[in-house]
Amino acid sequence: MSVNIDWDQLGFAYMELPYRWRAYWKDGEWYKEGLEEGKKFLISEGSTSLHYGQEAFEGLKAYRTKTGQIQLFRVDQNAQRLVNSAKRLLMPEYPVEKFIEAVKKTVQANADYVPPYGSGASLYIRPLLIGVGDNIGVSPAPEYIFTVFCMPVGPYYRNGLAPMPFVTSKYDRAAPFGTGASKVGGNYGGSLLPGQHAHAEGYGDVVYLDPATHTKVEEIGSANFYGIEKETNKFITPKSPSILPSITKYSLLYLAKERLGLEVEEGDVYVDELDRFAEAGAMGTAAVISPISRIDHGDKTFYFYSETEVGPITQCLYNELVGIQYGDIEAPEGWIFPVE
Ligand SMILES: *Cc1c(COP(=O)(O)O)cnc(C)c1O
Repeated sequence: MSVNIDWDQLGFAYMELPYRWRAYWKDGEWYKEGLEEGKKFLISEGSTSLHYGQEAFEGLKAYRTKTGQIQLFRVDQNAQRLVNSAKRLLMPEYPVEKFIEAVKKTVQANADYVPPYGSGASLYIRPLLIGVGDNIGVSPAPEYIFTVFCMPVGPYYRNGLAPMPFVTSKYDRAAPFGTGASKVGGNYGGSLLPGQHAHAEGYGDVVYLDPATHTKVEEIGSANFYGIEKETNKFITPKSPSILPSITKYSLLYLAKERLGLEVEEGDVYVDELDRFAEAGAMGTAAVISPISRIDHGDKTFYFYSETEVGPITQCLYNELVGIQYGDIEAPEGWIFPVE
């Protein structure tokens, strides 16, 4: 490895790497697809991504295994989710096979920046699809850019999993039949303020309730929620059309059932009934699992496993998934994509 990076000091910060994939769309087709150098590009001031939020993104990671191989985790799922987001915002699809190839080529070109096995660090990959070109009315853009860039990031938890408190929000991140299930920038602009309030009060992030009735748990900041039911050890995660379908969530749901032998359920999680859970956590690519110590809701507080320690099922689920991502544990078929 020739690059001069202190892998143990990496946080989650932007870093300009030498190469990124870019593809351009106009008149019904993608053209000029390939690797480019330089983080900047010029777009029209009339771009719909700037005015009307016509943009979607993805987030995934590349991992280096014990043998030095680089591998991607379920990149086909990210590709398909971007297709779904594109459809919702009337953007042209970047086909699944092209997406996988674009991510592989980008990682390969920046391979020196994929952190070594054992550092706990990984290469964070950000695919992005934006509406560009001259436009002013509320209508789909005449042109689009698809890009994939990446950077090394440190482990979310440097000293092992640590539980954090969360608080319910009076704000919503998405409308009942809005864009909550699409990974689009518009959902995030509105989440900055509630997020800032929560952080200022010492919480990990906010708990978003279902936007129609504010009685059910939907998401934890930008991660999905699960609870482990007392007595039954059932793995329960909310189901709703305004939740972003987390790939980490569906992976953990599968592992809970197939590897830990737990019962699993996607269903309603009423905030007033949170004390049915012995353990709870938030799921997403960045942290895999953020264990939840407690949730404050108005004048009520719901406590989970411990304020300081991680529950045994949460720890098992985390170890299993991270073991698969770094190649130490055999993956279910089709989950791992080697980068040659
Ligand atoms: C990206 C995202 C998640 C997590 O999805 P993963 O595929 O597991 O990374 C959860 N909630 C929201 C709102 C998101 O944008």
